[in-house]
Amino acid sequence: MSDEARAAGVHVRAEGAKPYGLESGPEGAAPFQHGGLAPCERRPVLSVEEALERILATVCVLEAERVPLLEATDRVLAEEVTADRDIPPLTNAAMDGYAVRGTDVAKSPVRLRVVGGVAAGHVSRVRVEPGQAVRIMTGAPLPAGADTVVRFEDTRQDGDWIEVLKAYTSGKNVRQAGEDVRAGQVVLQPGKILRPQEIGMLAAVGHLEVAVVRRPRVAILATGDEVVPPDRTPGPGQIRDANSYTVAAQVQWYGGVPLLLGVARDREDLVRRGVREALARRADLIITSGGVSVGDFDLVKQVLAAEGEMHFWSLNMKPGRPLAFGVIDGVPLLGLPGNPVAAMVSTELFARPALLKMQGFTDWSRPTVHARLSRPIQRKDGRRHYLRVRLRETDEGYEATLTGDQGSGILNSLVQADGLAVIPEEAEHLPAGAEVEVMLLNLPPRRCPRRRGPHR
Ligand code: AMP
Ligand code: MG
Repeated sequence: MSDEARAAGVHVRAEGAKPYGLESGPEGAAPFQHGGLAPCERRPVLSVEEALERILATVCVLEAERVPLLEATDRVLAEEVTADRDIPPLTNAAMDGYAVRGTDVAKSPVRLRVVGGVAAGHVSRVRVEPGQAVRIMTGAPLPAGADTVVRFEDTRQDGDWIEVLKAYTSGKNVRQAGEDVRAGQVVLQPGKILRPQEIGMLAAVGHLEVAVVRRPRVAILATGDEVVPPDRTPGPGQIRDANSYTVAAQVQWYGGVPLLLGVARDREDLVRRGVREALARRADLIITSGGVSVGDFDLVKQVLAAEGEMHFWSLNMKPGRPLAFGVIDGVPLLGLPGNPVAAMVSTELFARPALLKMQGFTDWSRPTVHARLSRPIQRKDGRRHYLRVRLRETDEGYEATLTGDQGSGILNSLVQADGLAVIPEEAEHLPAGAEVEVMLLNLPPRRCPRRRGPHR
């Protein structure tokens, strides 16, 4: 498994895990080519890691664009940024008090004459001579002659005089010009993720526009004779298009720009038209849903095989066994299964890392927590299961409970879920209390390090 696949927060297939039943083909078997319906069993059966590795191998980092500073948050810097001047630009007071000569206050108590005052944003014309002090506010440039600031709290005022009650070392309470950043210094390197503090640094060095890796444009095409746009009242046998919106929201979460192409009916020419439109709209990634299994009207795979270089995989996972992936006119295409849960889970596992890679991120590991099952789980199919679970915090850590029917079409089970419990291929019986890893679904989980350790 590549580092990329490992970083994607997918899970290592245990050594010696049984390949899935009879469907297991030779590793790297030739992809199914168009020219007749291939039975599902003849498709290469891949692990999640293998599929992700192949997808990531074809996905490239996009080029840079210049954007206004506040559109750069959480994006990847594509230029080197240097400071045009020192920060702070002048040596200044770190405290409210009196600017003095350090040698005058090496011993205490001592009386000094106050010869002026200076506030932040102003420059004092007064020079501090021996025996003198200038009242100074935090951030104000130190007057000539002074090198130390005595805090108000350490003085007693007496008309035009002050008494300094405490001995000071020279340079105390002073920020030196350039102590934060030197003129000409590289403050940010390309590849840096722009968090709020980097945005602040860019502002501090006067960069109100910045080059970042551009966001991927993701064309989203639903397919199915029965699928109608959500603004339509479904007729007999029809169902509203949920997938386009789930996937579009995931694309947004992971920094992409969704382009909704609507629903293509189960006709080869209409699916083909949708794919062509995606290319015409300069999509960087095309995501379709439906039409990748072995139903009579599963046309996506035929269209894609005819239009580009396309692979159809049977993944050793549930939900989301069928997946199409390939490249058309240089644009990667991910063909998701139509069942809403399978479509969403596949997008999390495969589109999310691809989107992050396109945007220049190099780490797409995701937060997981460890949880104990509240009920036993039995399965015997040798597939990796992603079970929708609700998490409850207990004194012993998290407890995971299934959100109900785990069918691939039960969208409500995702609505109720805090995360997806990852059940390894080889696990057939997990008793109540068994520990599982849970991928969190409650935040845009981009790169947070995987949490390790017994619990939480
Ligand atoms: P398919 O993968 O095309 O065989 O579809 C599998 C199941 O998912 C069918 O029951 C479809 O009705 C359903 N389905 C397909 N596309 C969508 C969609 N965009 N929104 C909601 N359900 C869908
Ligand atoms: Mg269909």
